[in-house]
Amino acid sequence: MTKIRVYNTLSKSKEPFEPVRAGKVGIYLCGPTVYKPSHIGHMVGPVIFDAIKRYLAYNGFEVTWVVNITDVDDKLIHESHQRGVAMPELAREMTADYMRNLEAMGIDTVDTFPRATDNIDEIIRFTSQLIAKGFAYESEGDVYFDVSKDPDYGKLSHRTVDAMQGEGGGTAERKRSSGDFALWKSAKPGEPAWPSPWGPGRPGWHIECSVMSQRLLGETFDIHGGGLDLVFPHHENEIAQSECLHGRPMAKYWLHNGLMQASDEQGKVGGRTTRPAAGDREAQEIGKISKSRGASPFSEMLAEFEPETIRFFLLSTHYRRPIDFSEERIREVGAGMETFYRYFKRYQRITGGDFYQLAFSARREEGAIPAGGDPLTAAVAEHRDKFLEDMDDDFNTGGAIGVLFELVRRLNKYADDEKLEDKKQQAPEKMAAIQQGTRTLRELGATLGLFRKPPRQQAPAGDTALSEKLIKLLIEVRAEARKAKNFAMADHIRKSLAEIGVILEDRPGGTEWTIQS
Ligand SMILES: [Zn+2]
Repeated sequence: MTKIRVYNTLSKSKEPFEPVRAGKVGIYLCGPTVYKPSHIGHMVGPVIFDAIKRYLAYNGFEVTWVVNITDVDDKLIHESHQRGVAMPELAREMTADYMRNLEAMGIDTVDTFPRATDNIDEIIRFTSQLIAKGFAYESEGDVYFDVSKDPDYGKLSHRTVDAMQGEGGGTAERKRSSGDFALWKSAKPGEPAWPSPWGPGRPGWHIECSVMSQRLLGETFDIHGGGLDLVFPHHENEIAQSECLHGRPMAKYWLHNGLMQASDEQGKVGGRTTRPAAGDREAQEIGKISKSRGASPFSEMLAEFEPETIRFFLLSTHYRRPIDFSEERIREVGAGMETFYRYFKRYQRITGGDFYQLAFSARREEGAIPAGGDPLTAAVAEHRDKFLEDMDDDFNTGGAIGVLFELVRRLNKYADDEKLEDKKQQAPEKMAAIQQGTRTLRELGATLGLFRKPPRQQAPAGDTALSEKLIKLLIEVRAEARKAKNFAMADHIRKSLAEIGVILEDRPGGTEWTIQS
């Protein structure tokens, strides 16, 4: 029995987390339609569910996480015509871009990325079965799901069958009712198509998720995730397809993350922004997004910010809330994170050990801190409990990050109070306490995918190695200037370095430097 509780969109309440099969968790997250390079909005779901998977694994679950790639779709067809590139080639290019971004963000926890076009046979079979059971009908080469046959339709979005399904022009007259949605679309001349019992065509968007989740995770799996904008119609339709076919719940818990919005414009820049849910809302949103840097290719964002800073930024808001995008805010987060990086260097000065090499507990029960001992250890244990409480409460990563800050401040205070940078003050029990506290910081950070390796700007490689040598040289020149009592020169060096973002700090053991992003 875990202490984890999750907010389920289906019941509109927090429920205890109990997987369908003891000890195992299956997660399905709706992935991108690969027709354009990813922007930061495409990283929101993956970062959140990466943390959720890590936390569940830390709690002893064996987790399988599936993210689908929509590589056939109206948008892909349109974009491939615009650019004069074949659809499969466009999809390959944009999938590679998405994968590079996930890798840069340290999201290496996804087990499978099924592609819609690799599952056409299964999609046709699934659709045929729905027709055979009377839940779907063929109409002029299209196949539609008959919403009137599903008494549960609307149970996720808590709405009644009303509006358009966003299929767009020309299909209305082929449907029995405007609420029906396409499982299969007949091909127009020049469009990519696969043979089917209903003639050449391609799958609708919703059906791929029903098919691939069932194939990889089973009829009923544990967590289905996605952006809030997917609740209706996409997830509602997935439920209709799957549950009408097999008569069992599709997923036990439906988790929806808030979308990213431009903080000034209130325009969305994340999630499936381009999925029309109704009318021309899409066009309005794209107009707003295009004015925001948040819509620029994520590779540009990565050139400017540390991946870890972006991860920190995305996790510092509770996943169900909207994220206000602003570069200013990301910069602030980056500056705040220097607290951790400075502490890691301090830890190295005190103990001689590398924070990133510290062994830590990968399992919750193994990391438990025995009562008694040094007062610091007791405080660390309290912080750890608080962190776990936050994460148990519907994965409150924002609260958990707040606890990490409290913990690092506590460790710094201990090092100050006990003067641990002075070798003569380093009593074994104090050293054991600070090591224990730092290991706990590493253990908890790891559940959010944080502090896995030093940030890029601190890792010596290529140009960075040269910069590092030059900075060290300037620090030496400054030390020489001070020795010669040329304080004006020493000050000039310090200030000039600060102007280009290199911050010097004079310490008992010498001058330390950090680069501020
Ligand atoms: Zn989906």
